[in-house]
Amino acid sequence: MSEITKQSLTELVENIKNKKLSSTDVTKAFIDRSEKSEELNAYITNDFTSALEKAKKFDQKPNLDSKLPGIPIAVKDLFCTKDIKTTAGSKILNNFVPTYESTVTENIWNEGAILLGKLNCDEFAMGSSNETSFFGNVQSPIDRNLVPGGSSGGSASAVAGQLTPVTIGTDTGGSIRQPASFTGIVGLKPTYGSCSRYGIVAFASSLDQAGPMAQNVKDCALLHEVISSYDPKDSTSIDFNRNHYSKELTNNIKGKKIGIPKEYRVDGMPKEIEDLWQKGIQYVKDCGAETIDISLPNTSYALPTYYIVAPAEASSNLARYDGVKYGFRAKGENLIDMYEKTRSEGFGAEVQRRIMIGTYVLSSGYYDAYYLKAQKVRKLIKNDFDEAYKKVDAILTPSTPSSAFKIGEKTNDPVSMYLNDIFTVPVNLAGLPGISIPAGHDSKGYPLGLQIIGKAFDEQNILNIAYAMEEKINFKNKITDWWIK
Ligand code: GLN
Repeated sequence: MSEITKQSLTELVENIKNKKLSSTDVTKAFIDRSEKSEELNAYITNDFTSALEKAKKFDQKPNLDSKLPGIPIAVKDLFCTKDIKTTAGSKILNNFVPTYESTVTENIWNEGAILLGKLNCDEFAMGSSNETSFFGNVQSPIDRNLVPGGSSGGSASAVAGQLTPVTIGTDTGGSIRQPASFTGIVGLKPTYGSCSRYGIVAFASSLDQAGPMAQNVKDCALLHEVISSYDPKDSTSIDFNRNHYSKELTNNIKGKKIGIPKEYRVDGMPKEIEDLWQKGIQYVKDCGAETIDISLPNTSYALPTYYIVAPAEASSNLARYDGVKYGFRAKGENLIDMYEKTRSEGFGAEVQRRIMIGTYVLSSGYYDAYYLKAQKVRKLIKNDFDEAYKKVDAILTPSTPSSAFKIGEKTNDPVSMYLNDIFTVPVNLAGLPGISIPAGHDSKGYPLGLQIIGKAFDEQNILNIAYAMEEKINFKNKITDWWIK
């Protein structure tokens, strides 16, 4: 049997079910590796002691019918975990201990999984490089100088570095798919309304979705099956017939029509990305699918639209952090002074930038010109996809316009940082599912990802396409374990 932390979730589940491994063996192995991972800075809070206790308890009375029997899992620190500190990567929530559990994490524990710890992320999930976290940046297990992507950078680093078998992240504009692409793993952003937002620290409520991040497509399908559920506690949760995504997974995609949108061929895109895309086109053809050139004419407006809608919603969501109801409070001479100091000292620069943009575009003089206009353009972007899906079953694009960049490379240039989201944000604006799979390496050996975008609620279809492509691609991640002393 191969080393425990190298095994996929599916293998671990099987090995625990047929008693070749105990939950304690598995939990110990991941804790061991996680303890050596300090340099990656992937964890904000660890829960190792109680994870081991839970594993022992599980082994005494194992429920082997569950989907994640005794499997240790670390999650992004944006999910509220009852009685365990939940920071959202921020100073303002540095001492926040929720009294409730998010629905998606609850679903995971209900299937027998065990919390390993809370993973680092950009402050309030705002960022593309995991450099805005109050707890410091995360390093990529691929190379110490690289960002792991963001905002679910700790999650990506932890899965690629084998500190956790799988994880869940959140994706508002690309925060699952972009870090998955940068670190050579699989990440799925589900259809808006598929996974409950209850108990997730809110960034932009009309865009936020939780989703799985894993080493392979099958693991991703299994975890998605566990977290996706109808939840009356979230008014935007949708009650639809959910598939048994892992059981129904098939690599037979013969006859599927895959759209190739010409607008994703953006200026300045490196040749390596174009070549990867062409390879992807060949792979789906080799699987018996047909590719069709399509147009999504409003694609170039997606980024500006996102950077109006997301900050607008963020500024409203973050109004609750006033030093009274939650977390950090600065001393002030009076109430207003306390509010001002709490928010100036409690929020980092990127979050303050978003609050300023958001309140500006929502202010009475500018609401119509910016916010309302952005909402109209958002509808046009959605219409583009609806039109395309009359002809095709799914759409294939690169996940990101480049491979992972260097730590510090874009920190002083927010616009170039925002440009990294160019291929992922349209999917959130339209509420669609999208999956990123590792598909190759650039000349420096850094991973590159391809994105498959589906129709709403068609996760099974994009998982199947990803599964078929994965077999052809046969990607091997180049993890050097540089951080292990
Ligand atoms: N990078 C994007 C942003 O900073 C997306 C973040 C996310 O998906 N949470 O807004």
